Amino acid sequence: MKSMSALVAATIAVLSHPALAQEKILNLYSARHYQTDEALYANFTQQTGIKINRIEGKEDELLERIKNEGANSPADVFLTVDAARLAKAHELGLFAPVASKLLESRIPAHLRTEDWFSFSTRARVIVYNKAAVKPEDIQNYADLANPKLKGKFCSRSGSHPYNLSLMASIIAHQGEVKAEELARGMVTNFARAPKGGDTDQIKAVAAGECGVAISNTYYVARLLRSTKPEEQKLMEQVGVVWPDQSSNGAHINVSGGGMLKTAPHKDAAVKFLEYLASDKAQTYFADGNNEWPVVASVKIANPALDSLGKFKADKLPVKNLAMYQAKAQIIFDRVGFK
Ligand code: FE
Repeated sequence: MKSMSALVAATIAVLSHPALAQEKILNLYSARHYQTDEALYANFTQQTGIKINRIEGKEDELLERIKNEGANSPADVFLTVDAARLAKAHELGLFAPVASKLLESRIPAHLRTEDWFSFSTRARVIVYNKAAVKPEDIQNYADLANPKLKGKFCSRSGSHPYNLSLMASIIAHQGEVKAEELARGMVTNFARAPKGGDTDQIKAVAAGECGVAISNTYYVARLLRSTKPEEQKLMEQVGVVWPDQSSNGAHINVSGGGMLKTAPHKDAAVKFLEYLASDKAQTYFADGNNEWPVVASVKIANPALDSLGKFKADKLPVKNLAMYQAKAQIIFDRVGFK
């Protein structure tokens, strides 16, 4: 035990040593890992001379790791997907506030908080089997509760952050009563008990096992861009609807990150967050996962996303999504959306 605490003390001494604090290093904990990441990080090192040490892992595992490492965590920046997870890191007090004029001017206000920032967006859309469901019957999320869809709706788990964030947005816009009505109707309409991820729902819709499902846009785009003939064939059966176009717009979720309170390299961390909002990084970041950049002036060419057509995006602040996560879970539990 003695040597253990001595080691910890030594680690703290090293990390807080002023000379070493100037080290040109950034320790990045990332739950994102895509093809374009190499270029994304190499470009930062080239511009700044700051070397990136990357720890990649699953979203919830990384969060757990940072929590367990506590004050001794070497992590400078945590990147992950979904407002629910970012909100959790915030609630655990892991992030430090970042005041950056650059981030404020580049990232729209509804896509940032005082301590974490969105760097790309995705929408949650309704996918349907063209032979089984009429698109006019599923123009809104609320339609997923329509008795017309009995035995046709498929979904991943209600506990999954993507569904919790969608439900949180519905609570924010329409209140808890309406949100619970929708959740209950979805459960009544289940074609099967929730299982698998969004890609599994799309495939089950294509196969006719489900008539309708909800999915993040990048899963749709990924299948649309597939070079596998069997997946191309599947997608011919699938239609996509942008929900709530005559009201709040399609629910938007994000990838994002923030600087950790215990970050040993705070200057490098802020530089890196600012870099992620630059034109070039925005393109890499969005392209890597078939998402959209958060910086309005940055345009990407993604034929699969473009093929889905223009849409109205919900402008609900990501902060509000975070605020209603717990209520969303209570509602899903109450109606048995497992
Ligand atoms: Fe995902």
